[in-house]
Amino acid sequence: MSDSQNTRAARLSHLHSGDLEKGDPLSTPIVMSSVFHLPGDPAGARQYGRFDNPTWEAVEAAFAHLEDADAIAFPSGMAAISSVLLALLSTGDRVLLPSDGYYTPRVLLEKHLTRLGIRYDTRPTASFLEGGFAGYRMVLVETPSNPGLDICDIKAVAEAAQAEGAIVVADNTTMTPYGQRPLDLGVDLVLAADTKAPNGHSDVLFGHVAGRDATMIETIREWRKLAGVIPGPFEAWLVLRGLQTLEVRFDRMCSSAETIATRLADHPAVRSVRYPGLKNDPSHALAKTQMLRFGSLVGLTLGSKEQAERFIDTCPFIEATTSFGGVHTSAERRARWGDDVAEGFVRLSVGCEPTDALWQAIDAALKTA
Ligand SMILES: *Cc1c(COP(=O)(O)O)cnc(C)c1O
Repeated sequence: MSDSQNTRAARLSHLHSGDLEKGDPLSTPIVMSSVFHLPGDPAGARQYGRFDNPTWEAVEAAFAHLEDADAIAFPSGMAAISSVLLALLSTGDRVLLPSDGYYTPRVLLEKHLTRLGIRYDTRPTASFLEGGFAGYRMVLVETPSNPGLDICDIKAVAEAAQAEGAIVVADNTTMTPYGQRPLDLGVDLVLAADTKAPNGHSDVLFGHVAGRDATMIETIREWRKLAGVIPGPFEAWLVLRGLQTLEVRFDRMCSSAETIATRLADHPAVRSVRYPGLKNDPSHALAKTQMLRFGSLVGLTLGSKEQAERFIDTCPFIEATTSFGGVHTSAERRARWGDDVAEGFVRLSVGCEPTDALWQAIDAALKTA
């Protein structure tokens, strides 16, 4: 981690200490109020719970600090994505998104945005630069792609797509601001499902959008207020609490993932492994140039669907769940959702368990699977 990343992580724990009066609670209060005391001229004060809430403001300040940008909180990752699409696109616009990324944005475009005259194309992440970006109003990158873990060059995509007049958006869910910083690489907006590692405890859905262009951010913030896609104060508070330990959790998760991916690559029961941190992974050279960590997701392919299911069910330290980024290691066979991967492909989300205990359990489960 670079010095500025260390300082950023350290400062997060002390963001509000300068504002405290003697006797104030150190922990940010949860403010459950739909209305605010508002006599006379309403300007300049909090007015209504769909417009403002002090607990969202606190979590937004934390995201703003982590992203070094303005940040807007949303009740889920998809609320963040749909708000970016709906606030910034118009009839006749064309969007480019990865064919191998998170599938819900593609379904949303297909089922609902095409109805509004917004068209889209998809392209594999590994060859995202091929074909150029002429004619696109918005380009969405997701790197590493989920679940295949291919990578594209964020800086090169941002430069080429912006030169054609596109707004470039990065879904940074798999990496968090501690693992990759797309705004520093030139994208216009970064967004994430904080449902994953940022909250980290598998008990909340949440999302955020961040950017450094004041007009774009204001447009999205106004969309949230008008459309009513607002997070609840309690969820905002839980995410704020999760963020306090994100750096230490993500550090453990990524370090364990590096160790486990290396050992999986040598394991006789494993056909192949994808992990950007492996020296012989097709993504490695590019990953080293743009990622600060190699992430907590590992893709491994076992011999068959049955073997993959048995591995997941047998290992006592793997929870069979969809989603990723929790303190508990979890895994799933992505082909069960129709992802374009082998039947025996398992997406492993490495959690915070001590590395060696986790590896021993994985090794034992692979031997019996
Ligand atoms: C989970 C996920 C989302 C959606 O987040 P929700 O909180 O479930 O709406 C979006 N993008 C990526 C890459 C994800 O993994």
